[in-house]
Amino acid sequence: MNILVINCGSSSLKFQLIDAQTEQLAAKGLCERIGIEGSRIVYTPAGGVKEIKEAPMANHTDAIRYVLEALTNEKTGVVKSLDEIGAVGHRLVHGGEKFAGSTVITDEVIQAIEECNDLAPLHNPANLIGISACKELMPNTPMAGIFDTAFHQTMPKKAYLYGIPYEYYEKYRIRRYGFHGTSHSYVSKRAAEVLGRNYEDLKIIVCHLGNGASVSAVMNGKCVDTSMGMTPLEGLIMGTRSGDIDPAIIEFIAHKENKTIDEVMAILNKKSGVLGLSDNLSSDFRDLEDAYPQGNVRAVEAMDCFAYRVAKYIGAYAAAMNGVDVICFTAGVGENSSFTRELICNNYLGYLGVKLDDEANQKRGEDITISTPDSKTTVMVIPTNEELAIARETYRLTRQ
Ligand code: ADP
Repeated sequence: MNILVINCGSSSLKFQLIDAQTEQLAAKGLCERIGIEGSRIVYTPAGGVKEIKEAPMANHTDAIRYVLEALTNEKTGVVKSLDEIGAVGHRLVHGGEKFAGSTVITDEVIQAIEECNDLAPLHNPANLIGISACKELMPNTPMAGIFDTAFHQTMPKKAYLYGIPYEYYEKYRIRRYGFHGTSHSYVSKRAAEVLGRNYEDLKIIVCHLGNGASVSAVMNGKCVDTSMGMTPLEGLIMGTRSGDIDPAIIEFIAHKENKTIDEVMAILNKKSGVLGLSDNLSSDFRDLEDAYPQGNVRAVEAMDCFAYRVAKYIGAYAAAMNGVDVICFTAGVGENSSFTRELICNNYLGYLGVKLDDEANQKRGEDITISTPDSKTTVMVIPTNEELAIARETYRLTRQ
């Protein structure tokens, strides 16, 4: 059964078609600039050539129409008709406290997601538009929703409550939710599988280091803490997000620079992180890594701040779990940057008995242990695959 995996943003839509039985990718692509001039679709059938086509898309329904056309195209398509798409899996950002797992999408579920819109005003409405566009074009195809927040719903109250008046939790559900849950879940399970160990017996710290970045603590198969909070702004220093700061800084900048709260929040989300720290050199870690050996002070400081923050979270979560067996690196930076892994492991993790295997640490693109056999804590690189995890969940929920 083919599963269409959709990740819908406000002006973009990423998709993959995955055969659920063989877990092979059939095709993937991206619609960009939806609702903006210059919209286009990028489409790549597995083993085929990447096509980029200008395509007017006034809205997400238009975008999905192009996706379905590309998938069924006579020459470059990968299925003969839409009947060969058995189900659609939607990546959904915020399920609040309502969803501790994935779900088949029904009208009640759509309503429940709408009720979480306050918590993710940028993401959830875009996700819902993707759902209604699919409903319109493929009314008889079952759909499932896989939430970024669901895996973290096992956190205990002491990990998810903030030190603010309790009534705000009761009234508005202000609490830590965490994100990248599909990735943290996939990577921690995969690590146990690769090591041939029982998932329920391990203490695992997953470092999902991409443009957006988060760390999570997974103990005995359950998430017990994670660094992102009510929104993805908390925690690590990221590509353009500040991560943890003293909340009083918001008011301070607003007064000094004569800015509104919304303007300051935009700075913390879009102009901070390693981009801001490097004085706008780049939010892309590859650029910072290139500038680092040249002694570019801003790049060196940005990378050092980033690595230090990751190491502090690893320390915090080792404390939270009273130990750690496995540390996993994943996502764009975590999977590809041996340099960043070195900065973190060699500078800060000696007390956990971490010893990196320098040769293994240079490898890429595979599940691999990068610590030496006598390392007290095992360190691994596990490439994440959120789309495959979504396809698996969708298949599990929708197969008859
Ligand atoms: P997101 O999904 O949050 O956009 P990704 O997980 O795709 O992020 O990661 C993107 C980031 O990965 C890029 O910003 C880039 O800095 C980083 N990256 C990719 N390849 C490398 C590499 N070889 N070395 C260092 N960083 C890399």
